[in-house]
Formats: sequence, structure tokens, C-alpha cells
Amino acid sequence: LVSRDFHPTSSVIDAAGVLIGDGQVPVVMAGPCSIESEEQMVSAARLVKAAGARILRGGAFKPRTGPHSFQGLGIEGLKLLRLAGDEVGLPVITEVMRIEQLDAVCRYADILQIGARNMQNFDLLKEVGKLRYPVLLKRGMSATLEEFLAAAEYIVAEGNERVVLCERGIRTFERATRNTLDLSVVPLIREMSHLPIIVDPSHATGKRSLVPVMSRAALVAGAHGLMIEVHPDPEKALCDGAQSLNGPGFSTLMDELRGLLTYL
Ligand code: PEP
Ligand code: MN
Repeated sequence: LVSRDFHPTSSVIDAAGVLIGDGQVPVVMAGPCSIESEEQMVSAARLVKAAGARILRGGAFKPRTGPHSFQGLGIEGLKLLRLAGDEVGLPVITEVMRIEQLDAVCRYADILQIGARNMQNFDLLKEVGKLRYPVLLKRGMSATLEEFLAAAEYIVAEGNERVVLCERGIRTFERATRNTLDLSVVPLIREMSHLPIIVDPSHATGKRSLVPVMSRAALVAGAHGLMIEVHPDPEKALCDGAQSLNGPGFSTLMDELRGLLTYL
């Protein structure tokens, strides 16, 4: 169902009024890794909106590697995300990790994110497939392209065709970057599937200095959008500060991308 053989024309996904796919201006989703407080979330929302992002991100349920790291504010975080999105007039996206969280996440978010660690949580994929919410499906850190597309197939097979794919870097022997951004999957997915594909250069590199150049590279490779972590004060971020841009950094990046963001 996700293959171009089955569906030759490219799908354009309506994500809460923002069109993602071929022929559309590439979308930029931005915001902090984690929702930390009302002040942090509202200031993040203001600065990403001012710079031109069209979707606000923020994690309330965080899949952290260790149990002692900040796990997210949960439902309280979802409320702050909604408040910040409404404050600046942006639709919001957040990660859902478990089926039990779906009711709450659907109440407050416009777009559901399935994280890399849950790309093969097949029960969760089937469940979001039954909903009528747009879904951003991130590639598992050790998933082949075939497995990535098979995961998307689970969602579409249940009837939800509003799936956007996201390349966020894969695990390789290289440790100089957090992950290895597999940019060649962008044109490859465009050949193989009708679903839109965006790139997350923040998790792919783990280094804020690499985010601008890899953002440009992603758009040149044909990505339909970007997901970028932005924090008002990255040094104080509870999660992923090293890969987060601050307000001025994000605004400069958006200025640099302007030419590419109108290129279809
Ligand atoms: C995220 O986007 O907040 C995140 C945890 O990313 P990933 O699932 O790609 O690691
Ligand atoms: Mn993060």
C-alpha cells in the first residue's frame, strides 16, 4: 500500500492544515526535545513561529536511554504544548510511546509522532492506523529501508493513509556523530513510495553545528521537510541540549533555507 507500484502518484498529507509532500513548500517542524515548563515552551513556540516554522514540536513522553534521565512531563506537558501552540497559532506534534497514551495525546496534539524506538511496536502502529490523525513515523535506528516501509505499511493497512516518514539517522560504527544521517534514503524513498519523507538533522548528527548544513543537504536531496530541535536556552535543556539550536541560531538557519523552502 505504501509502494509506488500500488499508488504511482505522490501523496500529499494534510497535517492539521499544513500540506506535506510533492509540489508543496517543504515544512519545518521545530521546538524543544522535551516540554519542560510553560515559560520554556511558550518562548520556544514564539521563536520558532517568528523564524517561520509551521509546526511546533515538543516531547511529553520521552523515550530516554536511562531510567534516571528526565522522562518528560506527561499529560502536564501535553497541556503546555497545546497552550504554546494555540498561543502562536501553530499545530503541534508530540510522541506517543504506548497505546494507553493515545487518548491523551489525541486530545492535545494535532499530529502523532512514533519515535525511532517504537518503529516496530506493531501493536502501536496498528492502533494509530485506526485513527484519523496524521502520523510522523521515524525510522528505527537499526531499521533497513525495507523494515521502515513495512512499518508504515502497518499504519496504512489499518486505514490511516496520512503517514509522513522521517529519516533521523541510523546506528553505524561511526561515533563522531550521534547517528549517521542516511541521506540517500530520501531519493530512494521518493522512488519506492508515494509517502512524503522528511529529515531530522538534530537526532541524526547530535551536534548543533552540523544541523544547518545537513538541513540544506536534506532539502537538496528532496526531503519534503525538516524536524529541528530548538530550545530557548540549550545549555539548560533537560534533554538533547547539544543538538538544539537557540533562537538566533534557528532564525539564521531559516534565513539560509529560505531559497530552498520555496523550491518545489
Ligand atoms: C524525538 O524526536 O524527540 C526523538 C526521541 O527522536 P527519535 O525517536 O528519532 O530518537
Ligand atoms: Mn531529542
